[in-house]
Amino acid sequence: MTDCLFCAMVAGDIPADVVHETERTFAFRDIAPQAPTHVLVIPKDHHATAGLLVGADPTLLAEVVAAAHAVAVQEGLATEDGPEPGYRLVANTGPAAGQTVHHVHLHVLGGRDLAWPPG
Ligand code: AMP
Ligand code: ZN
Repeated sequence: MTDCLFCAMVAGDIPADVVHETERTFAFRDIAPQAPTHVLVIPKDHHATAGLLVGADPTLLAEVVAAAHAVAVQEGLATEDGPEPGYRLVANTGPAAGQTVHHVHLHVLGGRDLAWPPG
């Protein structure tokens, strides 16, 4: 999609600190990290939100979640079969949640204790 920051990063037109990639997913470090690990995981295809993605291509949403878990394992936030020490997946959706980039992305946050409820 034109005028989409994350599509431009997938295309290589804007630099990304890539930490994980599959045929259909892409993961890179957030430019303004909110935790010691802060990675964004996206589908390479453009979909605005998780709700639109799951309607259009549910398998791809599953691939994004699997990629997010793989990133967490790679970053030492979990093991293949266990959730220790733990991490958080966040999908800000719409203006009330503060979504600023309208290409669906999972934030993978970890490396410190994460407060609940979030802000
Ligand atoms: P959200 O507010 O949930 O839409 O998240 C968008 C995220 O994209 C924010 O955490 C930004 O810090 C991050 N971001 C914006 N531009 C870049 C960039 N060029 N490289 C990496 N992350 C970015
Ligand atoms: Zn896009």
